[in-house]
Amino acid sequence: MVARNKLAITGGRVIDPGEEIDQISDVLISNGRIEKITLRTGESKLDGYEVIDATGMIISPGFIDLHTHLRDPGQEWKETITSGTHAAANGGFTTVCAMPNTDPVQDSAATVEDVIRRSGVDGIVRVLPIGAISVGQRGKQLAPMGELADAGVIGFSDDGNPVEDANLMRQALAYSAEVGLPVINHAEDKKIAGGGVMTAGLVATRLGLAGAPNEAETAMVARDLYLAELTETRLHIPHISTIGSIEVLRSAKDRGVDVTAEVTPHHLTLNEEWVFGLKGEVPSSVGLQSYDTNTRVNPPLRSKADVRALIDALREGVIDIIATDHAPHAATDKVCTYNEAAPGINVLETAFSSVFALVNSKKISLVRLIESLTTRPASILGRDLGRLRKGFPADITLIHPSALWVVDPSTFASKSVNTPLAGVELRGRIVRTIYQGKTVFQSQPEVRKNG
Ligand SMILES: [Zn+2]
Repeated sequence: MVARNKLAITGGRVIDPGEEIDQISDVLISNGRIEKITLRTGESKLDGYEVIDATGMIISPGFIDLHTHLRDPGQEWKETITSGTHAAANGGFTTVCAMPNTDPVQDSAATVEDVIRRSGVDGIVRVLPIGAISVGQRGKQLAPMGELADAGVIGFSDDGNPVEDANLMRQALAYSAEVGLPVINHAEDKKIAGGGVMTAGLVATRLGLAGAPNEAETAMVARDLYLAELTETRLHIPHISTIGSIEVLRSAKDRGVDVTAEVTPHHLTLNEEWVFGLKGEVPSSVGLQSYDTNTRVNPPLRSKADVRALIDALREGVIDIIATDHAPHAATDKVCTYNEAAPGINVLETAFSSVFALVNSKKISLVRLIESLTTRPASILGRDLGRLRKGFPADITLIHPSALWVVDPSTFASKSVNTPLAGVELRGRIVRTIYQGKTVFQSQPEVRKNG
């Protein structure tokens, strides 16, 4: 008889950058935790184990997303804890960090405790809430950060809204040091952005759309870095997207500032030309269907030069991690003019495969990609996650590296379908996601192998 609490994943290529493992191995799981990794496959004694044959697959620690919008409470027609964690599982994520721009805002212990309680009931992967920096995310008065930390938040952010008042940001950094959690400031100077709906440049000019210059982000990132240096505290920069931001980040890291940064899959793989709505092609003439509102996102898709710099910075480790900024929106938020469209892209279910294209084109290594989704975000969280170490939770993602699939948003577990990648063929697919030893996602066996 097979005991239900023992699982063996055999014969796959285990990539665990935190434990410096990259070889064909068996992973043994007992009672929802990693029991051991046997480096020579076939030597495992598997009596009593349920066996998953992972031959030809990559076995990775479960992915961790530091930046997810679950829209729950308050906008449940866009996403809920249930649908959002199913989308996460489909994308190989076993931990998501929920941004606090919900309704009500997660600026009180009661709201945070409610999200934690309901995630334990309705969520199929781990949900770690992020608390607001300011009351109501209005940027006037600090939220009760100590109380939020006690309730279980993993950091503080007014994401969507920048903290415009530099002195409030300075105070937030100082208080966050007392509770040992990072501040994550949505880095955008709204006055410099000036109502721009995409990045300033030739595409904006041609489409007649208001453009926001890169400096709207870069100036705020620079300010925050100097404030973190002044207060000797920890800063985490979300969704970095400009060459200038990378330059000030690199220089701050060289000076020893305690900073980490994330980049999204879309800023790594799409550029401003995607706004034309032709999957990155530039039309010879601008017609009636001349943009795709699903490309509207904040920060906006940038130039090709910015994209190249982001990839280089991720490869070098100047940018620490990939985070999705999964931002589900209803059809009514996107079937409208570009100016009226809500900013945000639905990312969880395409995140890995879209960035995996950079591995296939040899721009980053597979090990670095997996590190940026597992060990590195785990170390920012300071939790025992992101590694296949004995005793750690058995959170595991199985990847079929050569499977080809076409993005079909109608199959998303997410309640929303706002992706510019609909109809795009991607290579590499999540085939199984295991959370605390239990399979929470398994793909249908129609994955097509590429010969
Ligand atoms: Zn943001």
